[in-house]
Amino acid sequence: MSIDIIAVTKRYGCFTALDDISLQIPLGELTALLGPSGCGKTTLLRIIAGLETLDQGKIVFHGEDKTKEDPRKRQVGFVFQHYALFRQMNVFENVAFGLRVQQRRLGLDNEIIKSKVSQLLQLVQMQKFARHYPAQLSGGQRQRVALARALAVEPKVLLLDEPFGALDAGVRKELRRWLRHLHDKIQLTSIFVTHDQEEAMEVSDRVVVMNNGRIEQVGIPADLYDNPVNSFVYNFLGSFNILKAEIHDGTAWIGKSRFPLPENLQGPGKTLKGYFRPHEVSISRVQKESVSIPVVVEHIQTVGPRINLELIRIETGELIIAEHNREYYRSLMLQENETVFIEIQNIRFFSD
Ligand code: ATP
Repeated sequence: MSIDIIAVTKRYGCFTALDDISLQIPLGELTALLGPSGCGKTTLLRIIAGLETLDQGKIVFHGEDKTKEDPRKRQVGFVFQHYALFRQMNVFENVAFGLRVQQRRLGLDNEIIKSKVSQLLQLVQMQKFARHYPAQLSGGQRQRVALARALAVEPKVLLLDEPFGALDAGVRKELRRWLRHLHDKIQLTSIFVTHDQEEAMEVSDRVVVMNNGRIEQVGIPADLYDNPVNSFVYNFLGSFNILKAEIHDGTAWIGKSRFPLPENLQGPGKTLKGYFRPHEVSISRVQKESVSIPVVVEHIQTVGPRINLELIRIETGELIIAEHNREYYRSLMLQENETVFIEIQNIRFFSD
């Protein structure tokens, strides 16, 4: 089922939580809503599910206006951050819950329920735990059960609100990969809320970056990373450095180093900021005219297979972080407090 979110606005009193949001989610796609806390991700998800009303706009599923439809009729599965499993029911009964409701309404056969729950438990790799109670499961296992429960009633749309948010980093990574494979297998239109950029980039087909109740940019993960439309998206998608730049003669200058400038940013005397990632800094002992920026090596820190360098720009005292693998660092044999020269490979300029 495709989803069209059309000009949706949501206010809580005089606060605008969603400000004229429009977004199309194609059939079968896994879309991540990514943004800082409070930017409106959960509100949007709840509006799609029908759990929250909207002030303006429409929610359309596969061409049909669902804006006023009861959430129970929308065929939406929901998985929350905090495993909303029924504590007094075992795994089997938790997954069977929605089917039992249907059983009363439609007279579903017990055998059908049994076979369906078994299939779902197999899908989420929890068949061995059918008789366990939620308190006997790990966080990751509970979330897999919550997912099986959401899938049991055959939703057309699956909504996941920070489903791995309460889990530790290792389990999160494993479950992300697992969710991606599961999604490819079941081909549901899914929307996934997260504030973790790595999670969004790893799991989803498309990422929607939100900020202050608005959409900043929508794109496939690699495209967003390579072509952010503004500094907010750039900053949100990974660690970064910022250096102040000035424009003279149609060129951006950072001290005595010059960088080509896109036309839309040109204008004499303007101050811009140059953004670049720590891995986009190369280091040399040789100064290249109009290219190198002199820095002092302030601190060298080993983080697993990588080395983080804290560098201080001599002309201004600005801090620059460079990140390299250990081999690169060994070949340089850097010492703390020595002066070296950096080159920036892929700088981007934004006016804010
Ligand atoms: P988080 O990542 O922290 O969950 P979020 O991006 O999901 O954040 P929302 O939960 O959608 O953010 O909230 C968006 C804004 O709307 C927040 O500023 C929040 O305080 C506000 N808000 C949400 N629900 C209500 C409510 N029922 N009444 C008043 N304000 C609300």
